[in-house]
Parts: sequence; structure tokens; C-alpha cells
Amino acid sequence: MKEVGYKFDVIVVGAGPAGSSAAYTLARKGFKVLLVERGRIPGSKNVFGGRVYADPLREVFDGFDDSAPVHRWVTKERISMVSGEAMTSLEFHERKRTSFTTYLTELANWMARKVEEAGGIVLTEITVDELVIERGRVTGIRVGDEKISSEVVIDAEGINRLLLERAGLVPKLELRHAGLGVKEVIKLSKKEIEDLFGLEEDEGLAWLMMGDITGGLPGGAFLYTNRDSVSLGLVVMLGEAVKVTREHISRYVEALRLHPLLERYFRNGRIMEYSAHLVPEYTWPSLPHRLYADGLLVAGDAAGLLLNLGYNFRGVDYAVYSGYLAAKAVEKAHELGGMTSENLSVYERLLEESFVMRQLRKFRNAPRMRENGRLYSTYPEVVNSVMDQLFHSTYEVPKVMEAFKRAKEGRVGWLDLIRDLIEVVRSV
Ligand SMILES: Cc1cc2nc3c(=O)[nH]c(=O)nc-3n(C[C@H](O)[C@H](O)[C@H](O)COP(=O)(O)OP(=O)(O)OC[C@H]3O[C@@H](n4cnc5c(N)ncnc54)[C@H](O)[C@@H]3O)c2cc1C
Repeated sequence: MKEVGYKFDVIVVGAGPAGSSAAYTLARKGFKVLLVERGRIPGSKNVFGGRVYADPLREVFDGFDDSAPVHRWVTKERISMVSGEAMTSLEFHERKRTSFTTYLTELANWMARKVEEAGGIVLTEITVDELVIERGRVTGIRVGDEKISSEVVIDAEGINRLLLERAGLVPKLELRHAGLGVKEVIKLSKKEIEDLFGLEEDEGLAWLMMGDITGGLPGGAFLYTNRDSVSLGLVVMLGEAVKVTREHISRYVEALRLHPLLERYFRNGRIMEYSAHLVPEYTWPSLPHRLYADGLLVAGDAAGLLLNLGYNFRGVDYAVYSGYLAAKAVEKAHELGGMTSENLSVYERLLEESFVMRQLRKFRNAPRMRENGRLYSTYPEVVNSVMDQLFHSTYEVPKVMEAFKRAKEGRVGWLDLIRDLIEVVRSV
């Protein structure tokens, strides 16, 4: 293996939200930073649904409000339970600028430009083959037959974390620790979006759906309005989904687009893009806790740091923040005299004290709750049956409790119902 005759302070693998945030934070502090990305441009390999919570990004990236590629601020939230062609929805509308829709490609590209502005080097179309480990310490990366050296490597390679696996640092990713996200981006005009979804100029809608709209797959569907397109897709639990999937996953997204309740929105639409990607779905005890070693830190999806509550999905901001904290840990280790495992262990403390770990701990039961099949089939049916009786009974309207008892009859017993209720209250 040839060695490139230049040593960086920090090499960051992966120009996704985690990697760019780490590289940007360190480049601004004067560290010699190399950010390596296998995609043609930063963001070209990244996939997400469409909504990002802004504050963590604002905290990390200077000039966020002036130049970040925000499509629409999400002012309208809708959660729907679907069974057959019936749908019960809860809608919340408030003109607050807390989260926004965008294309991850644009956002990741913007972040990588910030890295360059801060003095970091960004190399694209370079696939890192291996972490170089010498005498138990990560000393750089291997690309083809060349070694590029650094004091520390920040691994932000995303959920597949093949480099960590090849280095024997983590076991192979298990199906039950991953979700599968698939989506289509459908082009509509800006005006069509605003008319169809009742939105003003830069307002956006985040619409989450559960029930048989996923075609029987355990998970949920999402719809986000971008500036002049809609992101429509599914996130399903991979471990469970492989047991019940009968067709290629793209057919499920197609069925979603053609669903009688949704089809009206896309009649004039043109499909621009289809993509699929894995999502971390760790339960708390299985979360990879050890995120540092001699010369190495791990951030973002590679570290399993994502929160999926169904109604709230936090991947990008968690990735950005963990990248930022990894950078802070490098700064600290530098002050302490070097990138040893002991000095870098401060990363764990920084994470523990941050909202990222506090939230993951608080919602540690959420992944288990989502394994409950009744959430996706029985309860949407019960809710819609109650609504049907309350609103479509032409002569005699039942009392709410009477309608509920009828609706649950033959679908779920009291014991399971109470057990599920407790589980939901404990989890979210
Ligand atoms: C369908 C779907 C919907 C989602 N919806 C949302 C949402 O609405 N909101 C939200 O906040 N999050 C969402 N997420 C999650 C979010 O996309 C991720 O949590 C986030 O992108 C993680 O960032 P990351 O930087 O850790 O990893 P990634 O974004 O995966 O970036 C990793 C980067 O590393 C590069 N890379 C990997 N291996 C190598 C290598 N060997 N050499 C060089 N480069 C390499 C990849 O090309 C990639 O650019 C969604 C995910 C999916 C799949």
C-alpha cells in the first residue's frame, strides 16, 4: 500500500449530514480536514423523507437562515388512520418555523459547501475501502492501494457501516435493527401544491398515515410537500416486513400513490425520482454504545442515532448534532494531548448530556411498541368504524361508547386493548 505523503488532522468518511457537520466544525477551528464521499456530489447517495428540524442545524451551521435550501416550513401536521377507503385524521396548524421540507441532496450539498468555505477539503467519487488499523489504532483510510493518514478518522458512513464491519468493530447489521424507507418524488406545480393541500406561499404539510394504506407492511406512510413536488413513501420495519412482503417494495409505493384516498393529489403529477434506503431501528439495549476507539469516532446513522416515534422522525438533525459532538470530542482530545481512546471517550459524555441520547433513552420503548401489529390494522379499523357510526348513521346515532364497543367487537379484546394502551402511554 502506497502512502500519500500528507497527513491530515482529521479524515471524515461520508458527506451526509453527520460527516459534513463534523468536518465543518473542525475546519472552522483550523484543523486540517479531509471529507471523503463516494457519491458523484455530496448528497447524491443520501435518501430521506423530507422534513428536518431546524434548530440543531442552526446551532451548528453559521448562516443557516440566510442560505440553507429550505423548501417549505412545516406549519401543517396531519396524522391519519386509514382502513379501506375510510380515513380519520388529526390536523394541527400553527405558523411556527420549527421544521422544514427539503431535498436531502440539496441540503447535503449545501453542508459540504460550508465545509469548503471553512477551509476543509471535500473529495467526491472516492470510495473508502477500509479503515487502516496499525497496532490497534486507526491511523487513516485505504482508497484502492493508497493510504491517506490522519490523527483521527470520523466514520459517518451511514447505516450500512461496512467499514466498521470490515474492521471487526461492529457485527453485521441485523434485519431487526433496520427499517426500510422507500419513496417517490412527484412533481407538481407550486400553485397545485398550495391549492391541493391548503397551504400559503412557503407553508408545508407533513402527513403521516398508518393502517392498511401500507399494504399490510408494518410501518407507516408519509407525504411531505416540497416547493414544487411531493415526497411520498413508506418506512417499514425490515425484520417484520420480509415475513409478509409478497411483491417488490416499489409496488407498495406505487399502490400508495394510486390509493383512492391519495390518487386525487397526483393526477397531474409526474414521478421524478424513486429511491430506497435503510433506516436505523435500534431498540435501546441493542444501540451500539461504544462509539470511539483509538483514532476513531462514529457519528450519525452509522452510530444508530435516529429517533422514530411515528409522528416524529429525527434522523438528519440527530446526525448533524452527533457529528458536531464528535468534532467537539476531537477538539477536547487535541487539548488533552492526542486521539487516544481515553481522550476521545469524552464523546460518549457529550452525547449522553445532549438531547440526542436523552431523547433516545426517554423513548427507548418506542421501537418495541411499533412491533405491535394491531397498531397498523386493528386500531385504524376500530377508529374508522366509530366515525362511520357517528357520522353515517342516518336515523339513530349511537352514543360514543356504544359505537366504540360495537367497533371493537370481534377485533380486539379488553385485555389486549388495555395492555396496548399502557404500552403506548409508556412508549410515547
Ligand atoms: C426513506 C427515508 C425517510 C427518511 N425521512 C427522514 C425525515 O423525514 N427526517 C429526518 O430527519 N430523517 C429522515 N430519514 C433519516 C435520515 O435520512 C438519516 O438519519 C440521515 O441521512 C443520516 O445521516 P448520516 O450522515 O449519518 O448518513 P447518510 O445520510 O447515509 O450519509 C452517509 C454518507 O456516507 C457516504 N459513504 C458511505 N460509505 C462510504 C465509503 N466507504 N466511502 C465514502 N463515502 C461513503 C454515503 O455515500 C453517504 O453520502 C429518512 C431516511 C429514509 C431512508
